[in-house]
Amino acid sequence: MAIESINPANGKLLRRFDPLTEEAIRQKIGLASEAFHAYQTVPLEHRALCMRKLAAILEHETEDLATIITEEMGKPLHTARQEVLKCASACRYYAENAARILTPESIPTDGNDSYVRWDPLGVILAVMPWNFPFWQVFRFLAPALMAGNVGLLKHSSNVPQCAITIEALVRRAGFPRGTFQTLLIDSRQVESVLGDERVAAVTVTGSEPAGRAVAAQAGWLIKKSVLELGGSDPFIVMPSANLEAAVETAVRARCVNSGQSCIAAKRFIVADEIYDEFESRFVAGMEAMRVGDPMKDSTDIGPLATASIVDELEAQVRAATSAGARILTGGERMVGEGNYFEPTVLVGVPKTCAVYREELFGPVAMLFRVTNLDEAIRFANDTAFGLSASAWTQDPMEQRRFVTELQCGAVFLNAMVASDPRLPFGGIKRSGYGRELSAAGMREFLNSKTVVIA
Ligand code: NDP
Repeated sequence: MAIESINPANGKLLRRFDPLTEEAIRQKIGLASEAFHAYQTVPLEHRALCMRKLAAILEHETEDLATIITEEMGKPLHTARQEVLKCASACRYYAENAARILTPESIPTDGNDSYVRWDPLGVILAVMPWNFPFWQVFRFLAPALMAGNVGLLKHSSNVPQCAITIEALVRRAGFPRGTFQTLLIDSRQVESVLGDERVAAVTVTGSEPAGRAVAAQAGWLIKKSVLELGGSDPFIVMPSANLEAAVETAVRARCVNSGQSCIAAKRFIVADEIYDEFESRFVAGMEAMRVGDPMKDSTDIGPLATASIVDELEAQVRAATSAGARILTGGERMVGEGNYFEPTVLVGVPKTCAVYREELFGPVAMLFRVTNLDEAIRFANDTAFGLSASAWTQDPMEQRRFVTELQCGAVFLNAMVASDPRLPFGGIKRSGYGRELSAAGMREFLNSKTVVIA
């Protein structure tokens, strides 16, 4: 099946590509494997030079790159610009910090000398999603290439132009041929890529089914895998919170990337004392979101990336209301061209309804009222996901309990969850395993080799 780039704002076909043949895939893996043998010996300073050049290109060509992103997956252009600049910041972070992270760690033992060194694993396959089509890739490629690994990218089928552009950027930055290649392939072809003995490891960001399929094969092959899957992050507001800041952030946290983010807040858990006020202000905030043309700087929410995402969201909202939930605002796909869905607030979603436990990948929020801290924590943890959480309270005891008892990979107090190159990023439970970013992310695809010299 052809890989198509379709503008989600109007449904127009932008470009069509044929997937690679098995023979072409094998050639690219061969090139990656050869590139690795040479590239792992390239001095760190030279890799850093290329990485800084890559950052500079991203900074100089932000507008053109952001336009490719917006036309292909629909996020508002001003947020696509931020995404491109964030990629540049990740490149700079790893250019500056790789030497520190890769410094061998001396561990005194009975030997004359003993230490741990960090060696690259080789060819790493990255299966990536469309929601942050540059950022998701750069947060893999910047640490991987700085560490001496090489990358093969299997990007989502709806963002082939982003995928091709990223490969070209890496080459222009001076990285040797074969160090980072895009494979325009169908998800069914991933199996043969991962099955190739020249591919050492895999990282997946995406849905649970994709993660499960790839990780099962990686497990069978005994290849390292990192999974960053979905989330249904709680956003908890306690009585002592600064309500104005909490509401304003809650709306932003739900609508970030038009609602299509794994770390978007999805379940709003609010203390009884302030619930009514939070609800009315939150609904007003969602209604004030400007939905429309993603090319306009005034737009908050663009079209969703594909028509099937709208279908899925609509089905989830219908299922919730059939089970007894009430819609306070929105609830419908928008008429006219493009994949638009109204910013929506649901209350009273029963625990017995499947939607209560699902990820809502669009601008649809679920609100819950709780009577005390224990109930808030119970609600927050009542999910198969465990990516991150945002909790709002000025009370030090409550803050301590949130930090220790919330079951997830990151807790943000009085702030919106966001990724940062300096901090580890990833989840527990069915949100996946392993970490991206920071030193932890870089070391996922390194062999921590123990050396003892008698
Ligand atoms: P997918 O998980 O299907 O896609 C993510 C990547 O995985 C794509 O490159 C896709 O390729 C690939 N893929 C899918 N299935 C397989 C498979 N069996 N074997 C190997 N690779 C596979 O996400 P969708 O785009 O379908 O979105 C569905 C849901 O996933 C969303 O509603 C959301 O819940 C979640 N999601 C989470 C993201 C996150 O950031 N954690 C990002 C995107 C989605 P291809 O496009 O060719 O199918």
